[in-house]
Amino acid sequence: MKQVLIVGAGISGITAGRILAENNYQVTILEKRDHIGGNVYDYYEDNILIHKYGPHLFHTRLPQVAEFIKQFSEFFPYEHRVLGEIQGKLVPIPFNFKSIDMLFNIEEATHLKQALKQAYPEKESVPVMELRKSKDKKVQELAEFVYQNVFYGYTKKQWGKSPEEMDSSVMARVPVRLSYDDRYFTDEFQIMPLLGYTELITTMAEHKNISIRYQCDALSHLVVEKEKIYFDGEEWKEPVIYTGCIEELSGRCFGNLPYRSLIFELEHKNVTQAQPVVQVNYPNQYLYTRTSEFKLLQKEPVKDKTVLVYEYPVPCTETRIPYYPVESEENRTLYKKYKELLEPVKNLYLLGRLAEYQYYNMDITIYQAMNLAYKLIGEEKNGDNKGK
Ligand code: UDP
Repeated sequence: MKQVLIVGAGISGITAGRILAENNYQVTILEKRDHIGGNVYDYYEDNILIHKYGPHLFHTRLPQVAEFIKQFSEFFPYEHRVLGEIQGKLVPIPFNFKSIDMLFNIEEATHLKQALKQAYPEKESVPVMELRKSKDKKVQELAEFVYQNVFYGYTKKQWGKSPEEMDSSVMARVPVRLSYDDRYFTDEFQIMPLLGYTELITTMAEHKNISIRYQCDALSHLVVEKEKIYFDGEEWKEPVIYTGCIEELSGRCFGNLPYRSLIFELEHKNVTQAQPVVQVNYPNQYLYTRTSEFKLLQKEPVKDKTVLVYEYPVPCTETRIPYYPVESEENRTLYKKYKELLEPVKNLYLLGRLAEYQYYNMDITIYQAMNLAYKLIGEEKNGDNKGK
């Protein structure tokens, strides 16, 4: 039987593993933690589903990704809505026409909305950093307001940098909407697994050809030397899919790649609902960026009790749990050096947010994993499992 070694039992590793297992690969997964799912892991506490590593919302434009995950769990439709505390009011984020109406008087709000529509007649949304470059004075004024009140403080907390110092793609994740659409995401498929992500991923991993070794630090078993991989001292010629931090494979020889991390604080309350929506952002006060009320992400939440999570961003050096790659020219250059160093290792495949150093959403992670798995299967069928 064909073999594949996968490092990491997160969403990337398990997706690729499942597809390969269905195609007659014997899949061995090495997982450092004592549980499945990577950072999408969740667990029940008094019937409230706690997302251990922060709330995860599934959304995608890709029907093939939605179809793929639907094989492994029941889902229910869920559209995420977020409020941000701006000048003492809770207004919708992404900042949209409703947010304008709530923060400006009628006359001013009308001017601002007209200016936006005139400046961008064809667009549904525009990133704040682009709005700031507008030649229209009214648009500029609004952009400055949004920049200062929605993005500046939040981004300073989240990344330790101002939005101007960040890669523009990061602010563009939450653009200003030129309509009353107050959904956080506009993707066609917005669904949540009925019983949680752990149940989804566990079902995905249930296949006779998959075995997972928990509390197994791959780096104490795997050695990459020149163009070869050794597993427990023996050369491993079959594919290895690696989903951990790329620099750890090469002993951090070019230095650290930076990541941002989070510390989560839970608050238990004996009330039915603690805040008006699942997520409230606090761009301009407190050390945390946002609070989320987990049970509101469940289809049938329990009554009379709830759990809130507060997110405190920190550098990864504080927790040693990487959540976000810090995309920038400089960091991409460093990443490329590591990638080039590993290029000659023809049976090594890098996959996922950490190994690819990309701020992927869950759906893209799954998409990439599906592609990689089908590529390996294709190569095998063509008698070429060495080429990348
Ligand atoms: N952001 C912000 N204010 C907000 C929401 C988002 O400044 O109210 C910025 C911030 O820099 C954040 C980025 O937009 O890191 C992306 O936000 P998103 O909600 O996509 O972050 P995630 O849920 O992935 O942590």
